[in-house]
Amino acid sequence: MDNNKLAELLFSDIEKTPADFEAKYPKRSLPRTACVTRFAPSPTGFLHIGGLFAAFVGERTAKKSGGVFYLRIEDTDKKREVENGVGAIIKGLADFGITIDEGMLGETESIGEYGPYMQSKRKEIYQTYCKDLVKRGLAYPCFCTAEELEKIRKAQEENKQNPGYYGEFAKCRNLSFEEIEANIKNGKPYVVRLKSQGDENRRIKFDDAIKGEIEMPENVQDIVLLKTDGIPTYHFAHAVDDHLMRTTDVIRGDEWISSAPIHLQLFEVLGFDAPRYAHISPIMKEDAETGGKRKLSKRKDPEAAVSYYHEAGYPKEAVLEYLLTIANSNFEEWRAENPNAKREDFDFKLSNMSKAGALFDLMKLNDISKNYICTLSKEEVYERTLDWASAYNKDFAEILKNNKEYALRIFGIERGNEKPRKDIAKWEDTVEYTKYFFEKPENFEWQDNLSKEDMIEILTEYKNVYDKSETQEEWFPKVREMAERLGYAKAPKIYKKNPDDFKGHVGDVASVIRVAVTGRRNTPDLYEIIQVLGYDEFTERIDRAISLLK
Ligand code: GLU
Repeated sequence: MDNNKLAELLFSDIEKTPADFEAKYPKRSLPRTACVTRFAPSPTGFLHIGGLFAAFVGERTAKKSGGVFYLRIEDTDKKREVENGVGAIIKGLADFGITIDEGMLGETESIGEYGPYMQSKRKEIYQTYCKDLVKRGLAYPCFCTAEELEKIRKAQEENKQNPGYYGEFAKCRNLSFEEIEANIKNGKPYVVRLKSQGDENRRIKFDDAIKGEIEMPENVQDIVLLKTDGIPTYHFAHAVDDHLMRTTDVIRGDEWISSAPIHLQLFEVLGFDAPRYAHISPIMKEDAETGGKRKLSKRKDPEAAVSYYHEAGYPKEAVLEYLLTIANSNFEEWRAENPNAKREDFDFKLSNMSKAGALFDLMKLNDISKNYICTLSKEEVYERTLDWASAYNKDFAEILKNNKEYALRIFGIERGNEKPRKDIAKWEDTVEYTKYFFEKPENFEWQDNLSKEDMIEILTEYKNVYDKSETQEEWFPKVREMAERLGYAKAPKIYKKNPDDFKGHVGDVASVIRVAVTGRRNTPDLYEIIQVLGYDEFTERIDRAISLLK
């Protein structure tokens, strides 16, 4: 067979050669130790938290080494694509502060010298390399229909042979030029397959940066390079793109490990240096039903979507901090030793990533987020809550805008002191957190150890002794004094010793006031709350609670 003739027949409109693209996309002039990494999602309109995690790991790896992190859109599977799918991914990354050096910036805009960064715009490049493989006798057209392939598979199953298109089963390997030409003239659709040079008795070995040394049999399958529409498969696009974009480290989900023999073979036949691989284990979650672990699922778990965190209003700083704790198990220790250091200063290492899947723990994220939010100033909390509310809770945004000074005072409660309160994990929480400041309470969480009469007595008396000008230091002793006068122990300890001598203790008294003013038993500092509400509102609420109790 004349391979040149075959290559011309299949790719008559391809005039360039691999050398043209090698020259167009030269080796990057970066220090030897700099890593070039990429995030390469399909534009499905859904960014999985595992995707954000992989992107973050790629970004860290590149940034830390002084390299390049880029975004490539893998849109070769038209069935999975949705409208504005690229935008959703870019927004997801931007919302959580992951910035790219190169690649897609929007549905069509991009930045960088190694593009196009969208696979659907790279058809000529793939075909050029495929044409070259045909020329060199390393690829061939295959006209087998789905039915024929199914027949082969069934026969293989019956004879207990490995399934697939390889060796003796690769019928189209042996077609003559005339047969191929006739098929094409008759308009028969075809794919282009790799003529695998692999031998199942030989093994490939590679050093995965996360999983360590991996050994597998060589690939013997004549895998598809170009589909019937001339669009490449993931395998072929991966080899061509990561070579031409000069990726040094391919960081991707570990569902691709089983395909690594195909990829290494492709790099070899194409004459490319193989990149280093780092295969990330999926993020797992505790399964309530089975008690075991399972992958975080797009279908079952709302928290699988990155948009979930944005809608709930988790600050990006907290999410990234959390991702680092599940990425490198030594991060938490580092953080404990360096509480004020910048996250970027942590020495992130691929080799410190968990080989099994990291367990996603929303409670942990909440803790990290509370710890972060409690360090922000009231102005920052106000601005960021307003940003969040403007996108996801318009009514609340209006309230915040119309009452800026008041809202600032609410957010200022127990903030900026040595031990700030940690009530807010996400901006969404501020709606409940601030509610009783904007509305008089409707429900009252009264304690049940006091009678209505006792509570009315406490409230009536408290209104009388309350003094607008008292300081925080004066405030509690006064409540204590009043409690004693009304027959309550001045400390819980004293009450516990002789409970029959008292109606209750000072804590119960304070609680009645707190519930009357806020409706709740658990709130920040009551003195500060009353200060923020103001004297008139405070007395109105006490009177209202008394009359509701009657
Ligand atoms: N488009 C592939 C995916 O979304 C990318 C895998 C890779 O990073 O190479 O799974």
